[in-house]
Amino acid sequence: MWFYETLYPDIKLGLKGRLIYKKKTPYQDLRIYKTCRFGNVLLLDGAIQTTQKDEFIYHEMLTHPVFFLHPNPKNILVIGAGDGGVLREALKHKVKKIILVEIDKEVIKLSEKYLPSICKNSFNNKRVKIVIDDGAKFIKNTKEKFDIVIIDSPDPVGVAKVLFSKKFYENIYSILTSQGIMIRQTGSIVLQRGELRQNYNILKNIFSYLAVQLACVPTYIGGFFSFIIASKKIDPYKASYKKILSKYRNLKLKTKYYNPEIHLASLVLPNYVEEELR
Ligand code: SAM
Repeated sequence: MWFYETLYPDIKLGLKGRLIYKKKTPYQDLRIYKTCRFGNVLLLDGAIQTTQKDEFIYHEMLTHPVFFLHPNPKNILVIGAGDGGVLREALKHKVKKIILVEIDKEVIKLSEKYLPSICKNSFNNKRVKIVIDDGAKFIKNTKEKFDIVIIDSPDPVGVAKVLFSKKFYENIYSILTSQGIMIRQTGSIVLQRGELRQNYNILKNIFSYLAVQLACVPTYIGGFFSFIIASKKIDPYKASYKKILSKYRNLKLKTKYYNPEIHLASLVLPNYVEEELR
């Protein structure tokens, strides 16, 4: 049977597949479909979050660029990311501790059951601490400092809306260490018009350096999918290819999408995206 992503009022992405799990949690409508082409697919409130087939692109590009930009990332905070993909990638680095703050424990539970190729065993890794809480609340109350903050939230709807506010970003700034870096997804520039620009305009008044990174994720329809990197002291555009290459090689990092060349290329923007930010 066919099912349709209902993220947009006037566009639908249809996939052939079978509903294998459905639950209304206190936070969102949670569904998993087993599809012919993309493996198991997670939807929250009708929006595709991740698929077993193409998740690697998004999770690698949300994780490795900022890890290779930071001189020595040890303490990491991940907000959202209940499917475990960011955790899996972050654990490939020599981190001391990763705190994952996910509002809905159901997502973690079902990801372990239905999306094992995405989370692998990352939730049980001894360097990982899972906190079930609202990310905005956690950021406000934590006394800890982090070298990297990764925001892997859905689009700015429902419980995720708080993860796109000026206050939220100011609080992130205050819990980052002196060379701290943050990255977040800011959606499709063509279909989620304004999301990149609005967040960029808020962040540029808080952080010294910003960079926009692009990648194409087939099931995140709308062409290029955007990410914003916001940094206190490190200019992502000044990153040395040689340094990134040597870190990548020393780590013997295994990736299916990320490599040092793509790292730098993903920061090169087409005119219509530059326009969007002007
Ligand atoms: N890659 C996806 C995307 O780009 O839309 C996001 C995937 S991940 C499953 C998103 C997670 O954010 C979900 O598990 C959801 O429960 C969680 N989430 C939403 N709002 C949150 C909040 N305020 N605090 C913490 N986690 C939140």
